[in-house]
Amino acid sequence: MSGYRAIAARTHDVPDGARGARSSGHDRDEPVARDPSARDTPNDLADRPRPRVHDAILPAVGGRDDLDRYIASQQDRFVAELRELCAIPCEASDKRALDTAARWCRDRLRAAGFADARELRVDGAPALVVGATGEGRRTLVGVQHYDVQPAVPLDLWKTPPYEPSQRDGAVYARGVDDNKGHLLLRMQAVEAHRAVFGELPIQIRFLIEGEEESGSPNLAKLLALEPRLTEADGALKEGGAIDSEGRPQLSLGGKGILYCHFRVRTMARDAHSGGATHYPNAAWRLTHALASLMGADGRVRIAGFYDAVRKPSATDQDLLERMPFDPTSVRAVVGIQRFAFGRSDGEATRASVFEPTCNICGVESGYNGPGSKTVIPAEATGKVDFRLVPDQDPEEIAALLRAHLDREGFGDVEFSAEEGEHPYRGAADAPLVRAVAAVAEEAFRKPAVLIPSSGGTSPMWVVCNARRMPNVTLGMGHPGAGAHAPNEHILLENYWRALRATSRLYSIFATQA
Ligand SMILES: [Zn+2]
Repeated sequence: MSGYRAIAARTHDVPDGARGARSSGHDRDEPVARDPSARDTPNDLADRPRPRVHDAILPAVGGRDDLDRYIASQQDRFVAELRELCAIPCEASDKRALDTAARWCRDRLRAAGFADARELRVDGAPALVVGATGEGRRTLVGVQHYDVQPAVPLDLWKTPPYEPSQRDGAVYARGVDDNKGHLLLRMQAVEAHRAVFGELPIQIRFLIEGEEESGSPNLAKLLALEPRLTEADGALKEGGAIDSEGRPQLSLGGKGILYCHFRVRTMARDAHSGGATHYPNAAWRLTHALASLMGADGRVRIAGFYDAVRKPSATDQDLLERMPFDPTSVRAVVGIQRFAFGRSDGEATRASVFEPTCNICGVESGYNGPGSKTVIPAEATGKVDFRLVPDQDPEEIAALLRAHLDREGFGDVEFSAEEGEHPYRGAADAPLVRAVAAVAEEAFRKPAVLIPSSGGTSPMWVVCNARRMPNVTLGMGHPGAGAHAPNEHILLENYWRALRATSRLYSIFATQA
């Protein structure tokens, strides 16, 4: 059972709180070595160096081989396809556009030789597009999505989000980085492989969902329609990025999430603040309840919260030590002198990979308009997300949270948990990871950086956990690509490199020890 469904069921047990608002708690992988807010900064184009138009496709690779030449010969068509896919405004609220995108992906898979490409459906949810091609000892499953984050606020876009624009060696559109560019280049890499190297020596199976940006609520149900869909030797995750030094970042896991809506009501209506001697204030109730969740040291105070946290393995520790982390620039982006909770640079790096969080996303109560209004609020609401690490279970954390509130005397504080996803951290010493590191280093000409877990969430537990399958990213997003933000874009130079790397992966993975 997926975390989401477990949590959805649980919300019936708790008083109905401020439900309805869809959280934005779920997001794509966010490499820790980079400032986590970089992707959310409006107008991130302002400070970034202008991309150069490249006169050659892969100049740094040094000399064009057959694969480079093939990619160069197809680049106009490949970019035209990217623009066509990105023109479909498939936000969660637009069912027709989601259907159009699903059909587009199914047809594109068929054109790339996935004869069985088809759409699977449950409960009116957006289709899961699946298809397989190639044959060999190993199977690689590509876990991707075609839905996108809402493009609002539109006025911050320099060109309309669904009229893909190509300029200065970049393509601008909502979803071009997260995740349509990555999705498409993995398909185009199949074509490139067949054209240059011949038949695929492995089976490649795509699982392309349409609800990733909403927390993948139906993915487990869709996969259960055909249990063999997740039988594979490794998973290529959505997305993927390079860091500010151009090093490919290979993410081997992601944190889970539990998103909670809090609500407390203390009176039938607001009251004159002269009555604050004896009327209960909802804002105070909520504030005290939230304050009970975490100490000033950043340690979550919910009993049992850390019980299931898996100790990092020796390999995890080793990867952590080798992870580049530039604390000064990470602090500079948000203008702080010190990390939260008195954490040292080393502690902050470690926590970003291995520690769960308790984060207040927003609080609302009483009067916050201009001037003053002396009032005792009768109601207060708040939103909190917990990013979870292996082997925390969102459903169990929700139960521990309820028990904590009751034990601390906050039985009147309601919460509903709408969204839950399990964390997943795959093995680092797997043939797939070695193969991806090799092809990424070849294409980007920089050492790959292995990240045991990013701070973000993706639905890999549902796909990988039963078989403890390795999973990894191989992509081209650059710092400031603006995923989830206005002016989202990719640099074509990186796109061609990632396409090259992916095409090579389909060969290398077949025999990688
Ligand atoms: Zn994504």
